[in-house]
Amino acid sequence: MAAAILVVLFAFSAVDADAADDAPTVIVRLDNLALVPAGDLDFAEGRAAAVFSRIGVQVTWIPEQIAVRDHVMPPFTVVLIKSGSDLTVRPAIVDALGFADPSVSRAHVIYDRVEALTERSQLSAASLLGDVIAHELGHLILPGPGHTTRGIMRSGVDVHVHPMETFTGPQARQIVSRLIHGR
Ligand SMILES: [Zn+2]
Repeated sequence: MAAAILVVLFAFSAVDADAADDAPTVIVRLDNLALVPAGDLDFAEGRAAAVFSRIGVQVTWIPEQIAVRDHVMPPFTVVLIKSGSDLTVRPAIVDALGFADPSVSRAHVIYDRVEALTERSQLSAASLLGDVIAHELGHLILPGPGHTTRGIMRSGVDVHVHPMETFTGPQARQIVSRLIHGR
């Protein structure tokens, strides 16, 4: 496990170490409809970005208000909601803590379910939220159902404290290819 991640890190750092600006970047609009406190949201965004940085990918977050004000339409959107929200979407990929619809490049994370998990985890809600955001964002970028038996795309959330996980080697290559070549 650790060895696999190291190999991935090395493979990309050889390319990107000298030119972080050239790193493949994923730009994500983030709508905080669940009203997650700003400090927790900052932490979660940082954690999700760290998951991607381990495969050499940068994440730029655009808050909903900025996207609307500046009329920018980032290629991906993550919406933080509370369960019971009135939704008309029929998501393609349904997880316990969120769902993703790659056809419209939008994922939802159900924040109160993330919060509830902290009762049986030493991880903070902000930390778990970051992992779930990274997972759902992964669904938007990766082809197919995207679940693997290990890594950040494992279905089901691991509430145990462990070193941060990221995408598997093949997933990392798929994500970078999608961001650079659009496929
Ligand atoms: Zn999933």
